[in-house]
Amino acid sequence: MSNSNLVSYTKISPNKSSPRNHAIDTITIHCVVGQCSVETLGNIFAPTSREASSNYGIGNDGRIGMYVEEKDRSWCSSNAANDNRAITIEVASDTKHPYSVNEKAYAALLDLVTDICKRNGIKKLVWSENKSDRVNHKNGCNMTVHRDYANKSCPGDYLYNRHGEIAAEVNRRLGAAEPPKPDTAPTGTLYKVQIGAFSKKANAAALEKKVKAAGFDTFVTKEGTLYKVQVGAFSVKANAEAIQKKLSAAGYSDAFITASSGTAAKPSAPAAAKITEGSRVRLKQGAPTYTGGSLASYVYDRVHVVKEISGKRAVITFGNIVVAAVNVDDLTLA
Ligand SMILES: [Zn+2]
Repeated sequence: MSNSNLVSYTKISPNKSSPRNHAIDTITIHCVVGQCSVETLGNIFAPTSREASSNYGIGNDGRIGMYVEEKDRSWCSSNAANDNRAITIEVASDTKHPYSVNEKAYAALLDLVTDICKRNGIKKLVWSENKSDRVNHKNGCNMTVHRDYANKSCPGDYLYNRHGEIAAEVNRRLGAAEPPKPDTAPTGTLYKVQIGAFSKKANAAALEKKVKAAGFDTFVTKEGTLYKVQVGAFSVKANAEAIQKKLSAAGYSDAFITASSGTAAKPSAPAAAKITEGSRVRLKQGAPTYTGGSLASYVYDRVHVVKEISGKRAVITFGNIVVAAVNVDDLTLA
């Protein structure tokens, strides 16, 4: 059983049961109730008197910490059976309802959950709004929440209401989702770590095999006449940097980070008042998508970044993930 290479800070907590008694088949996301760093979280889980821990934690800067190795059971969700089969993740959050999580931490959560699923053979995340489905793992349900097992608001409404969105995005990255509609095509910047580039395909394949065997999610991509060997991709640059460091320590000191956009931005036509690509915006309450579709209510409560504008069509993102294409007239600067 491996741990995530995305981890940039490790402080193993004594609060755990070793080893876990069940295969990993569930993800349980928690809110910290504090906008803290991975180091602070490590200190919280350090004393035995705390009797609490999590497998991973995500700081407010998007870095990822590990406190209990995946082979072990964390003491996180007030339920031994759940924590024996789940990877638990604490995410830095506000201290008050709805316990909001910032964009960096949210983007890192998507990276981490995708990585956990890939390494543990979880082909698809299945979420249900129904507690009985969740705790009984009905219909393949494999996401649970702390409030299922204790009288707590954890993971907070902010994260709770995004579980469907988290499952959809992770499934898209796992290749388990339906191909996205043009309106929701991902256009966020993705960071990859490049280890080598070869004109001979066989040389690239040999390196890919070697790096994969070392535990990195490696692939070969052809650009022009070159076969490039890369690891990734990640929404958060800090996660790519963590991988780059580990590759360097493993002997791949030439590894470097490359950024790419999912879709090239189209030349923009004159848009409404001052809103341009990169603007931080709010969407008018109840405004539909550009093609008239409806959006989840929380979309109207948060600030988005405009990724692309073409005529009146604006693509808005949250945590580098495309949320929707909307009419630019429905946007106001945040
Ligand atoms: Zn919790």
